[in-house]
Amino acid sequence: MDKKISIAIDGPAGAGKSTIARRLARELGYRYVDTGAIYRTVAYFFDLWGVAPKDIDGIRRYIDELTIGISYDENGVQHMIMNGMDVTEDIRTQEIGQKASIISAHAIVRDLLLDMQRETAEKYDVIMDGRDIGTVVLPKATVKIFLTASAEVRAQRRTEELQAKGQKADYQKILKEIQQRDYQDTHRDIAPLKMARDSVKLDTSDLDIDGVIAAMKDIIAKKVTPCV
Ligand code: C5P
Repeated sequence: MDKKISIAIDGPAGAGKSTIARRLARELGYRYVDTGAIYRTVAYFFDLWGVAPKDIDGIRRYIDELTIGISYDENGVQHMIMNGMDVTEDIRTQEIGQKASIISAHAIVRDLLLDMQRETAEKYDVIMDGRDIGTVVLPKATVKIFLTASAEVRAQRRTEELQAKGQKADYQKILKEIQQRDYQDTHRDIAPLKMARDSVKLDTSDLDIDGVIAAMKDIIAKKVTPCV
């Protein structure tokens, strides 16, 4: 089988990774893999079972009951299937994001998801976004980009995103949650959020989406030819 192209995009919560990665994947014809959605699915499952994200005994007890599937619709949108149920929309709340951040610190959870992510990258040209893609999941990724922005800008973007969906959004509360999630994601023992040494850092605080896409295409074009 040909060696596939993999573009690893890591960065903190709300840096715009999924919006950017989804659009880039469409333009480049690659498969977009949102790994945060996979962790959110795990968090959602345990939430339904009433197991707290820190309760490692409860997680061990029920983890074999969980099956996760990923499917793609005709628009290339990733759907998360939990025990046969499409939970793509259910996992997108702030609360599940917060729980995912806690649950993703457990080795048993990370081990379960590692192969799933790697197998996808072996089969398809991918743009995969997450926290540890360039450092742990795909250390030999063709291109690694670390997408970031100030916590304030990220909180503002998330507030607007939730409001656009008609959900309640309190900027101060979201900023606090983002800061807390940054702390949790960067301070955990296993696969903490950090920039891979061979990653290119892109700060999106002062860029709009088109600006970020253009900058990313420049980075990708240096390693992958031809790039759109
Ligand atoms: O990207 P998103 O906000 O959907 O991710 C939810 C949480 O899942 C993150 O805060 C992070 O703790 C965890 N995560 C992870 N490793 C990844 C992707 C997400 O630990 N590759």
